[in-house]
Amino acid sequence: MKKVIEDHSVAAQFHDAVHEWAVVAVEEHPDNEGECVCGQQNLLYMYTIYNSKKQETLSYIGSQCVHHFKRQDLDMQVSVFSQLLALKRAIEDRKKITLTSDYFSRALLEWLFAEGAFNNARNGYNGEEDYAFFLKMFNKRKKEDISAAQNRKIWVMLNSQVYPYIRDHPALG
Ligand SMILES: [Zn+2]
Repeated sequence: MKKVIEDHSVAAQFHDAVHEWAVVAVEEHPDNEGECVCGQQNLLYMYTIYNSKKQETLSYIGSQCVHHFKRQDLDMQVSVFSQLLALKRAIEDRKKITLTSDYFSRALLEWLFAEGAFNNARNGYNGEEDYAFFLKMFNKRKKEDISAAQNRKIWVMLNSQVYPYIRDHPALG
């Protein structure tokens, strides 16, 4: 695996090369038969990584191999993408979804904001306030403190905006 990464990086040595990469997409193999660039088989979650210096993607790579990069931020990206995929499946299966840690996390909300998922005509395509609102509601330990109006706003934004965004996002297979 180190050789594959070195061959696709600007830096010659693996421990330098790892800093050129980010996790950008995930796909789920329907029969657990995904294969990592290292040759490891039977992957369920297959990640795509992107080299910012070469502007090239490399796929697929398993979460275990990403872990070998020994970068906490990459491990976090893997975690966010797997959460996003779980959320996408729940949306597709029409499960009851709430703004709790069952399906959401602060890192997932941050990803949605960075991708522009909270931008809409009403907020002038600047989703910053709506992101702050979602974060505040997510962080509330007592969910009964969330008012009916706030719950309505959460529901409307999730259904009209966030869910279609996740369902149609090209990085979530
Ligand atoms: Zn591997």
